[in-house]
Amino acid sequence: MKALYIKGVHLYEILQRAKESKVEICGFLLGQEREDRFFVEEIVFTKNKLDSPIEFEVDPLETLEVFQIAEKEGLEIIGIFHSHINSPHYPSGKDLKGMNLWRNVWLIVSTLGTYGAFILKNGEIKEIGVVILD
Ligand SMILES: [Zn+2]
Repeated sequence: MKALYIKGVHLYEILQRAKESKVEICGFLLGQEREDRFFVEEIVFTKNKLDSPIEFEVDPLETLEVFQIAEKEGLEIIGIFHSHINSPHYPSGKDLKGMNLWRNVWLIVSTLGTYGAFILKNGEIKEIGVVILD
């Protein structure tokens, strides 16, 4: 079964930044995929180009920079994360469109304190497990 493995400090930092922000926060999960297990080794925050509390977009140039960081460190971009403000951590209609473009793990945190990881399988959203590591 697919699952996302993330360090507690990383998840906590994302949740914390989400709570402190008036707009959706976003960024990338760098790490490795091994047999359906996605191990996060690094998180990279990016700007929300839309500066919006209800949607996000990463600037393509910033995305390119993250690709370069990953390459330099021998990691893959295994996922994307962003926050939802005062709404549940489930993908929105716009997120679904994004998931069609970025077919990796989508970690969504809510400022309500909940979070979940999602992938697209046969065009449908599937929630996968999140395992928190020390
Ligand atoms: Zn969203």
